[in-house]
Amino acid sequence: MEQATVVTPVKDTKPEHPAMPECCCPACGQRNLKPKRFEFNSGRGATGWSRCQSCNTYFMAEGYDTEQETDHTRNMAWGNQHEGVALNQRKRNGFVAALDQIETLGYGSGSKILDVGCSFGGILVEARKRGFECAGVDIVPEAIAWMKSEGFRAEECSSLRDCTLFSKQQPADVVTVLDAHIYWPDQPAELRAAWDLLRDDGLLLIRAVTKSSYITTGRMVGSVSTGLSRKLIRRAIADHRFSMPLKSLLRTVEGAGFEVLSASPKGAQHTNDMPLTARAAFAMGTLLWHGLGVSIAPTTLVFARKKPA
Ligand SMILES: [Zn+2]
Repeated sequence: MEQATVVTPVKDTKPEHPAMPECCCPACGQRNLKPKRFEFNSGRGATGWSRCQSCNTYFMAEGYDTEQETDHTRNMAWGNQHEGVALNQRKRNGFVAALDQIETLGYGSGSKILDVGCSFGGILVEARKRGFECAGVDIVPEAIAWMKSEGFRAEECSSLRDCTLFSKQQPADVVTVLDAHIYWPDQPAELRAAWDLLRDDGLLLIRAVTKSSYITTGRMVGSVSTGLSRKLIRRAIADHRFSMPLKSLLRTVEGAGFEVLSASPKGAQHTNDMPLTARAAFAMGTLLWHGLGVSIAPTTLVFARKKPA
């Protein structure tokens, strides 16, 4: 008797992207020949880090694994429904400040907005109230299911290169990346993908985490106080995969085909219930950046416009 042929169902094949070699900086894409190695205690435990010789970014040496990263995100507040939905409310003032500036730049009601790392609604909940056409991508499937149940267009993507919500023929007007770029395994590729999905003169907003000088300070105080050093570094890194100086980020954004319109700590606070020390850092950061071009603010809003090819 002939054996029945077992038909294995064909799995959804997702586009594969070549992984970045570990010596390449995820923030600027440059290859590092002999990167300096560090071990930092971060929100992910003791991890190996390098510093890019080209852009001075500190980056996690361990390679990127999408499944591991998804699991990690599920354990964070923004990766599970219960805490993620509550977080939208706590971060509301930051979303409102960002949308106010987006509207001031001329992108308002009726504009198509794509949020990268949309979590459980985030900025899109507020954007929809203002009449934006909203869509989001995220690495966590539960977040995408929740978004769809709330009537948003949403897609599970680990890279913006896989996003099918917009295209050259049907481009987005605005792409927002809030506190998400620091998880990208290949920032230049993601920025080029954002460029591809935007219309000419479309707007890119990155709420960038700009704490690399805090890591350098943490390393310097290490000889005086190990405890303080570890605390500073851990707080600067949190669970991020890289920490990039603002000026290097602006160069990378320009290199991906954008014109930087502004970069400022103004409006970059996540919440208004931050401790006094954090609010003071923002106030000092705003003064120093606008007065001297020195960046010490913990986060920065970067607005950039797509330059036509
Ligand atoms: Zn670099």
